[in-house]
Amino acid sequence: MNTTLNTTSYKLKAELSDKGTALYIHTTSHQETEALLKLTSIGAIPVEVKDPITRVQGSIWAPELDMLDPADLLEGFGAEGVTAVFRPPRGPKAILYLTFSGSSLPDRVTAGYLSYRTRLAVPKPRRCRRCQNYGHGEAQCRGSGRHLTTDCTATHPACPPCGGSHEASHRDCPKWLQEMQIATLIHRQRMPPKQARAVANRDVGFPAPAPRREPAEVQ
Ligand SMILES: [Zn+2]
Ligand SMILES: [Zn+2]
Ligand SMILES: [Zn+2]
Repeated sequence: MNTTLNTTSYKLKAELSDKGTALYIHTTSHQETEALLKLTSIGAIPVEVKDPITRVQGSIWAPELDMLDPADLLEGFGAEGVTAVFRPPRGPKAILYLTFSGSSLPDRVTAGYLSYRTRLAVPKPRRCRRCQNYGHGEAQCRGSGRHLTTDCTATHPACPPCGGSHEASHRDCPKWLQEMQIATLIHRQRMPPKQARAVANRDVGFPAPAPRREPAEVQ
């Protein structure tokens, strides 16, 4: 599918969704995204452009705030578009995860007279501690006859997600690397999860879930 975006001079990649009812456009910068979101027509065709991301998470390093409760911090950050503040229970208390409504992460946030640089957070893929597979936690696990990682007595490690002879927590596991790639596509490239999964499957060479469609160039 070739279409001319006559309001921009960008050369962007576009890709049809699995069902062929949506067109995803991959952008490389915030400016491109902002320009695209303003589009109301492509050529003579009226279009509705939606950003698939409605919230974005970033982290800050704030040793000055490490004695304060996240609930109190939320009040202080509220004016900056922050909707949630989370401090991981383990690890340094200076690290805070902030959730912003909207799709773009501000470069900095301020708390009183302090200013912090934000970093886009990519959440780690979720892996079940019972069946070791990705995408759910042990409370939702439907794998039967399995046991918790902490109860395992096996001497030869095996990785249920990929079938390899290593523990499922191994950082060279191809399935883990693939799940990390998916998380990165979702959170850094703002790709919808289904699309990210399809792209990652294609890259690894596993069969794609839907018939292959080559991305069309949009000029
Ligand atoms: Zn499970
Ligand atoms: Zn075991
Ligand atoms: Zn593995």
